[in-house]
Amino acid sequence: MIFDTHAHYDADAFDADRDEVMETLQKNRICAVNVGADIQGARDSVSLASRYPFLFAAAGIHPDDVGVLEHEAPLSGDEPVFDELIRLLKAPRTVAVGEIGLDYHWMVEEKAVQKKWFAAQLRLSVEMDLPINVHCREAVQDTLDIVRAEHGGRTGGIIHAFSGSVEIAREYVKMGYYLGIGGVVTFKNGRVLREVVREIPIEHLVTETDSPYLSPVPYRGKRNWSGNIPLVIDEIARVREMDRQEAEEILWENALKAYRIRERGLAVPYAG
Ligand SMILES: [Zn+2]
Repeated sequence: MIFDTHAHYDADAFDADRDEVMETLQKNRICAVNVGADIQGARDSVSLASRYPFLFAAAGIHPDDVGVLEHEAPLSGDEPVFDELIRLLKAPRTVAVGEIGLDYHWMVEEKAVQKKWFAAQLRLSVEMDLPINVHCREAVQDTLDIVRAEHGGRTGGIIHAFSGSVEIAREYVKMGYYLGIGGVVTFKNGRVLREVVREIPIEHLVTETDSPYLSPVPYRGKRNWSGNIPLVIDEIARVREMDRQEAEEILWENALKAYRIRERGLAVPYAG
C-alpha cells in the first residue's frame, strides 16, 4: 500500500476534479496526509481529512507565510491566527504540525522572522505532542540547528523533500526523524538524494509527493498526485538493491509510525 506523507490536495490545481482524484486514491488503496501551508490550507486540510477516511491533516504556517503571525493580519476574522492554528491542531484527524521551516530561496520574510516562528511552532508541537513536518529550502544548517535546539526529536516527525547531504541526514536520523523522499529521487540531478537513500537505513525513509508539485520522471512538469509514488518506490528499491514489495511494505509502516497513527488510536486506512 502507498502512503503519501505530504500532499496539497487543497491546491487550486485540484479544484476542477478533486472528487475524482479522491475516488482514484481510494480505489488504489492510497493514504495521504494533506499538508496545510498557510492558515487557509490548514482549514482545508482539516476539512478534507474529516471527509475522507484515507486522508489525515497537518496544519502549520509555511515560512513564506509567517508574516501573518508576525503582523497578525486579520485574515480570519476575530480569531488570532495562532489561536486558530491551535484549534485546527486539536482536530481529531490532525496528525502533525506542518509544514513549518525555513525558506531562504524566496525570502518572502527575513531570516529572523522565519526563525522566530519556526521555533514557536516547534515548541507548539511539543506542547501538543504532535510530530512535525519540516520544509527546508536553501537553509540546511539553520534548519538543523533550530530543530536540534527547539525540538531535538521530542515528538519525532518528517524532514519533507529532504535536500541535504548524507552527513546532515545522519544528524536527523540520530534524533529519530524520518526523511521525506519524493520525485526528486528520480531526477537526473538527484544524485545526492540517491546517495542519502542508499546510505540511510530504510527504517528512516518515508514516501511523499508534494502534489501538485515535483512529479517524478517521466511526468516532470505535469501535475503530481499520490498515484505517482510507485515510481518513487521503484527508485528507492533499485538504489538500495532490495525487493520492491518489501520496500513498499516498510515505507508504509514507516509513515504510520512517523505520524503515530496507531499510537493515537486512529483507524489505519485499508486495514483488514
Ligand atoms: Zn509542501
